Amino acid sequence: MNETPLRVRAEIDLAALRSNVRALRARAPRAAFMAVVKADAYGHGMLPCARAALRAGATWLGTATPEEALALRAAGIGLDEARVLCWLWTPGGPWREAIEADIEVSAGALWALREAAAAARAAGRTARVQLKADTGLGRGGCQPADWPELVEESLKAEAEGTVRITGIWSHYACADEPGHPSIAAQSAAFAQAVAYAEDAGLRPDVRHIANSPATLTLPDAHYDLVRPGIAMYGISPSPELGSPADFGLRPVMTLAASLALVKHAPEGHGVSYGHHYATPADTTLGLVPVGYGDGLPRHASGRGPVLIGGKVRTVAGRIAMDQFVVDLDGDEPAPGDEALLFGPGDRGEPTAEDWAQAADTIAYEIVTRIGSRVPRVYV
Ligand code: PLP
Repeated sequence: MNETPLRVRAEIDLAALRSNVRALRARAPRAAFMAVVKADAYGHGMLPCARAALRAGATWLGTATPEEALALRAAGIGLDEARVLCWLWTPGGPWREAIEADIEVSAGALWALREAAAAARAAGRTARVQLKADTGLGRGGCQPADWPELVEESLKAEAEGTVRITGIWSHYACADEPGHPSIAAQSAAFAQAVAYAEDAGLRPDVRHIANSPATLTLPDAHYDLVRPGIAMYGISPSPELGSPADFGLRPVMTLAASLALVKHAPEGHGVSYGHHYATPADTTLGLVPVGYGDGLPRHASGRGPVLIGGKVRTVAGRIAMDQFVVDLDGDEPAPGDEALLFGPGDRGEPTAEDWAQAADTIAYEIVTRIGSRVPRVYV
């Protein structure tokens, strides 16, 4: 597949991504599908993933930052192909550029609504604004007590022609923990926020609150649009909820490296910085040329798994910036042999979830942190 052998590569299986989008759409058949492609599509590459998702039936793209949304438009993804929403604004942000690029902007506070309206006025355009309610996540969005004022000011801006409220939305805190009491509370608060806004006269095109776990397990939360991120990349939002296969999903990213060195080492040989590992017997050591400079979590030192020569081995000692060592137990694979750090798992390789457990984190972080030094190879 590759002309030149690479030190390390992240293979991105776009057919798997398309199949995941279709599987998720089948769970929310009446809702539109927003592919969440922020943070370089969780490390998978924003543009190829956005295009693949659109091919599989997504009609919306979601980003955190305006820069991400503008990059989608700059790459030629027009309004005829996708509506784009971006939700993470700071005062003085590129409102005008976003409005002129037909990007929908989120406002969870009066200042944001006012900046959007002012930019639209200056551009002679109408800003398409989605109001964000904090229904209990306790992060971004408008508190219930401030919602009436935000709705009232939105109505005034609509009357003035500077703003059209195209959406009302929110985000769950604990949708990946089935039965968590906050789920029902947030669902009720969202229904209330929507009803208040609609009774006051707003007519949003879309109301939405469903991330991956809600798309997978909470049909009542689908409303007009679902907004999955992690599940689209074939990773379960949490192991407690089920495996990817339980939901008909397939991991999209495989992280593979080329073994850089195999050498003999005597018993008691200290390995890597700090000598946190010493060989328990005469053995062979393998050097995997991937490190925290590539986005591997250093916290998985001594614990991260990797498939080499048909066996899953464990990182020996510390993960360094560019490399780590494994104890090969006397086996002698050749330099250049493949080391599979994670992938779908069907070749016996670990998964991103295994790395998450080894690093006390979530699989979201494992794939998203894989850095720009690792070439993405689209297959
Ligand atoms: N919607 C918003 C506002 C988000 O911030 C995210 C990601 O964190 C998502 C949707 C997608 O969430 P998930 O990856 O859990 O599906």
